[in-house]
Parts: sequence; C-alpha cells; structure tokens
Amino acid sequence: MNIENDLYLISDYDKKYCMQVFGPQQIAFTHGKGVYLYDTEGKKYMDMIGGIAVNSLGHSHPKLTKTISDQAKKVIHCCNYYLIPQRSELAYNLCRKSFADKCFFANSGAEANEGAIKLARGFFSHKGIDRYEIITAKMSFHGRTMATITATGQPKFSEPFKPVLPGFKYAEFNNIDSFKEQVNEHTAAIMLELIQGESGVHPADKSFVLDIKRLCEEKGLLLIIDEVQTGIGRTGTLFCYEQYGIKPDIMTLAKGLGGGVPIGAVLATNEAATGFELGDHGSTFGGNPLACAAANTVLEVIADNQLCFNAGTISEFIVNKLNQIKEKRGYIKEVRGMGLLIGIEFDERILASGMRDALRNKGFLVSSIGKSVIRIAPPLIIKEAEAAKFCQAIDQVLKETDKVNKNKIGLELKK
Ligand SMILES: *Cc1c(COP(=O)(O)O)cnc(C)c1O
Repeated sequence: MNIENDLYLISDYDKKYCMQVFGPQQIAFTHGKGVYLYDTEGKKYMDMIGGIAVNSLGHSHPKLTKTISDQAKKVIHCCNYYLIPQRSELAYNLCRKSFADKCFFANSGAEANEGAIKLARGFFSHKGIDRYEIITAKMSFHGRTMATITATGQPKFSEPFKPVLPGFKYAEFNNIDSFKEQVNEHTAAIMLELIQGESGVHPADKSFVLDIKRLCEEKGLLLIIDEVQTGIGRTGTLFCYEQYGIKPDIMTLAKGLGGGVPIGAVLATNEAATGFELGDHGSTFGGNPLACAAANTVLEVIADNQLCFNAGTISEFIVNKLNQIKEKRGYIKEVRGMGLLIGIEFDERILASGMRDALRNKGFLVSSIGKSVIRIAPPLIIKEAEAAKFCQAIDQVLKETDKVNKNKIGLELKK
C-alpha cells in the first residue's frame, strides 16, 4: 500500500496512529526542487521555512542527493568500534572552519546540547571541582530531552514532566546584570543562543555577548553557544558567533548541518574537550557515514557557492523590502534577525497564524510564532527574484487585509 498521494489517508493515519504532539497543517509534500515544494495535489510552494533552518541547500540538491545515494550504496552505518572516514573528515572540516579543536557527533540539536551540558559538567568534575550549574537565558530553546527542556528557559516545555534536572539557573536575555546575579561558586557554564529563534527571532545585543564572554573569563566559566539554528551559514557567516567577535568554549550544531539528514555536533576547544574522557559519552548512530558524508557535502557546497555571502545579500534585500512594505502599509511592527533567519512582527490587527495561512494559500510556506511573529528561514540557495516574490506576497496579503478593514467587513486575519 502506498498512501503517499492520498491526503485523506495521510491525515487519517496521522490522527489515528501518530502521537498528537504537532497539530500539523493539513497538507503533505511529495517532492521538492530548489526552494520549492510540491504537495499531494501538485500545488507548488516556495519553502520560506526550509524545514526550520534545516534544508540549507534547498530540496533535492544534485550534489547532496548524489552524495547520499553514493554513500548509501557503500555503507550507511558502521559502529563506533571502528574508525569512520567521513566522520574524521567532517571533524577536520568543522575544526578548520571554526574556533574548535575537537568534535563529537550526535543526531539532533537536543542531543548535541545534552552532550554540551555533560561536557561542561565533566570539565569540572574530572578536575575535582564542584561546579555543575548552568545558567541559561529566559525565553531560550535548547531541545526536548529532559536536560534540554530544563535548560530551555520557558517553563511551559518542562511543566508536565517535573521533576526537572537539578543544576540550572535562568537569567534575562540581553541583561548582563541578571546573569551576574546567578553566578555562584557552583556555576560551571553559561549556555546561550545568539538569536532566540523559537521564541520569535530575538538577536542578542553585541555588547551583551561581549559582557557575557568577559564574565565567563573572569569567573572561569565555560561559554556554550547553541548554534543549532544559527549555525552553518544561516546568519551570513558560517557561524553566528563570528559576527559578535567572540569565541565560545563549546558550540552545538544540528539543523542545517546535514542539509536534511539528521546530524548534531558538539564542538569544543582542546581545553573544554577534556570534559570527556574515554567512555564518558557515546551514540550508536552519531557520526555515521551517511550523515557525515552529507554534512561534508553541505559544507563544500556552501563554500564553493559562497552561500554565506548569499544569505547576507538576500537578507539585506528582504529586510529592505519588508521595511518598505512596513512604511507603505503599516501592520508590520518590526523586522529583525540576521542573515536568512528573519522574524516579522505584526501589530495586534494581524494574527500570525492567519498570516501564515494566507501566505500558504498564495503558495508560500512560513512559520508562525505566538500571536504576532512570522519566522522565515529559507534555503541558503534562494535567489533575489525568489525573495522578491515572497515580499510581494506579504504586500499583497496586507493590501487585501487593508481592503477588508476599510469595508468594515471585519479583520480577515484576526480570529
Ligand atoms: C531546534 C533547536 C534545538 C533542538 O534541536 P532538535 O534537533 O529538534 O533536537 C536546540 N536548540 C536550538 C537553538 C534550536 O533551534
């Protein structure tokens, strides 16, 4: 039986047999090409969310699909009892391109963050130092495992699953004094996103990040930067920390790294990497040949095609266009973010989910966060002409909303 093209059955089986944690929009895609996805009805969509910053090279990128299929024909999985050439190469590539000296590979962002948390604790415990607390930011997001929902500074993610992991403290994002207040003799690390993606695309202030770095140096704390969403070219540089002029001790990656193939990574300096001794950490699937081969190709394509630069250029184009629309039509409160991770905040007349649905009807996929924010994180290969179409679509939706409002029929986009 093949239900791939039967939207009714896909939906029915989802409701009946999948745990209902997602609440999906009732649409399914059969294939994609470049920045476009095609649904079961054959309708074409511009994918402006890119699997939430995952499909860095877009869909069915010829080099990436070739790598994956070639590797699948050779060896998909090989356990960690043996050396893995693709893993050695990926570790070399990532260390060469970043602050890091050592890598550990996992399968997801949460798993990478679990590794980073363990590494920070191990760093002190192996030295016989009683430091284990990790300070994270309020409104952060670090994943869905027990440790990472604890690290996540939003109680709604951990509330039903108490008791949470001990040893976490929370401070106000972009408020250095708040972080200083949480430091004590047991503090091991500060863990931070440079752009809080999941809570509405809020970039960290440059001065705040510099202050955090100084605080870590003064107090001997490890700085863990969660670049699961911001890494791999997303913000216009290969890693977002480069734009802040700091270097972390530990960094985590996942989403964009495999271009769609699940992979996570913990990167660290030689010093921080002493937190793991032989046998301290591991993973059955982590660092497998298939995922590592895919990630090597993603890095190669990004470098060869200057996709970091492209992310910066297209970002500027989109932000300028959206700000023009803001001036012309109102409704938009703020456009923020870096590179191709952009949040568009609307005023109270627009409900984000309504905007998302209106854009989808016009053939554009975005994500809505809370009541007022639309997030876009399109493939890094997106071209200016494509970005222009997206901005036009936003303009069009606002124009139509305006008409509806003027005729006093009611707010089309407000529930
Ligand atoms: C998505 C995300 C995670 C979790 O990654 P998963 O692969 O879903 O486990 C962690 N941190 C940040 C910043 C993220 O955006």
